[in-house]
Amino acid sequence: MKPLLELDHISYSYHSLIGETKALENISFSVENGEFIAIVGPSGCGKSTLLSIISGLILPEEGVVRINGTENNATHTNIGYMLQKDQLFEWRTIYSNVTLGLEIQHKMTSPYKENVDKMLETYGLSNFVHARPSELSGGMRQRAALIRTLALEPDLLLLDEPFSALDYQTRLEVCDDIATIIKREKKTAILVTHDLSEAISVGNRVIILSRRPATIQKIVPISFSIPDCTPMKSRNTPEFAEYFNTIWKELSYHG
Ligand code: ADP
Ligand code: MG
Repeated sequence: MKPLLELDHISYSYHSLIGETKALENISFSVENGEFIAIVGPSGCGKSTLLSIISGLILPEEGVVRINGTENNATHTNIGYMLQKDQLFEWRTIYSNVTLGLEIQHKMTSPYKENVDKMLETYGLSNFVHARPSELSGGMRQRAALIRTLALEPDLLLLDEPFSALDYQTRLEVCDDIATIIKREKKTAILVTHDLSEAISVGNRVIILSRRPATIQKIVPISFSIPDCTPMKSRNTPEFAEYFNTIWKELSYHG
């Protein structure tokens, strides 16, 4: 079977009047269906650029992005994007926020709506469907933003530092929450973060990028031996500390 996503020797530079900024250099990796990939790298190294290339928002200068074996064409691929800000609209209720994508894409049909209702119920938001975003906690807002993204039943989810606007304690909880939902819904996801602990706690593999221009420095497979491991539980395992030290050294030697 072909991997869901394949990056084949991707390079990219931004061009402006003052010159060229090389952001990505020779990036190759594949993602299998159902994997949760975490990408870490120093600030400004090219992480967001990489997600833009995967989504088809920008085209690579060199190399090819393939989805299910075919060259990526933004119009045919169903990719969900979640950003740092939840981008919920205050003038809409939670229900009309989570169904916004369905509305825009003319998909307000029963199977999609039933899926949304089920997720609102499962993830504790069904009593808030008539509320406005400002009435919800930060964690609930991120959950609503995720349900809005999942409503379109994306093949691939891209998460660009979605927790970095939250304070530390909330961030741990929301990260656990969101990662657990994504795994339970059996989605394939790529999370970009500059937080090493976050990457290790959620990822099946952690891809370490170098400083700009980003190259792949190392790919570390992650697994924890405790049963029913959640991101939160993983943080207290002995393996976690080992992964942290290995990747930390990798980042500081080469970063
Ligand atoms: P990260 O997400 O890892 O912080 P980015 O992918 O946003 O990094 O940016 C990588 C580099 O490319 C940075 O040096 C940034 O300043 C530069 N860059 C990003 N977007 C643009 C743009 N639209 N035009 C020119 N340079 C850009
Ligand atoms: Mg970024």
